[in-house]
This record gives sequence, C-alpha cells and structure tokens, in this order.
Amino acid sequence: MSYMNSVPRAWRERVTKYRLIGGRCKSCGKVFYPYRSFCPRCGSSDVEKIELPKRGKIKYFTVVRSAPAEFKKYEPYIVALVELENGAVVPAQITDAEPEELREGMPVEGVLRRYREQGEDGIIEYGIKFRPVVGEE
Ligand SMILES: [Zn+2]
Repeated sequence: MSYMNSVPRAWRERVTKYRLIGGRCKSCGKVFYPYRSFCPRCGSSDVEKIELPKRGKIKYFTVVRSAPAEFKKYEPYIVALVELENGAVVPAQITDAEPEELREGMPVEGVLRRYREQGEDGIIEYGIKFRPVVGEE
C-alpha cells in the first residue's frame, strides 16, 4: 500500500491550532493535500493555498500493527484516507474509535491532538487526527 507512505510525514507537521492547508488548482478546480506548487491532476502551476474543511468521510482505512520504530509504542493504531467535503484526500490517523467500529464512508471530523512527546527535551507535538462524527450518517 504505497499510497499510505506519506502518513508519518503528514503527522510531523507541527501545528498549534487546527489548520489544514491544501491547494486548489485554478485551472481545473482540483483540491488536494498536501499543498504543492503544481496541480497533481492537470499539471498547472496556477494553484492557490486554501484552508481545508474539518469534515469528511473515511475513504479507506487500515490498522497498523507494525509501525516504524518511533511510533512503536502507539501500536496498533488506525490510519485512513479521509475525503474532505471539498474533495481533498488527506492521509491521517483515526482517534477515539476501535477498528471494528469503523467503516468506509463513515463521517469524520478533524481534531487537534497531542500525538507524541519527544524523549529528552520533552517537546510535545500536536497533529490533526480524525474521529467519527457521532450521531450522523
Ligand atoms: Zn489542475
């Protein structure tokens, strides 16, 4: 599942408030994450940074039972591709849920969560995770 490879990198983006930045192509309208200077669909460089919506749905998810060394202590955890309301697809960790509670198409919302503490200097990093939206279908 090579398309899940970008998940740990996405987690490392340091954030202190909820803000998920993606890009939008002014030529074809494609919305994407993470931001890059070229449209992944049509190749145009006429792209702008936009703030992505919090809400979306699970497009695909998987349970990680053998994580990279630095994430070992969080095993098992759930990673997903979340399709946001504007069509951007974001690789993210799912929180506040057990794998058996999840299904594809389930509505989720982004939350800002502490996701790891670095050993010696005690730096706490925050990242955006997604959790199921309770009571909505
Ligand atoms: Zn485009």
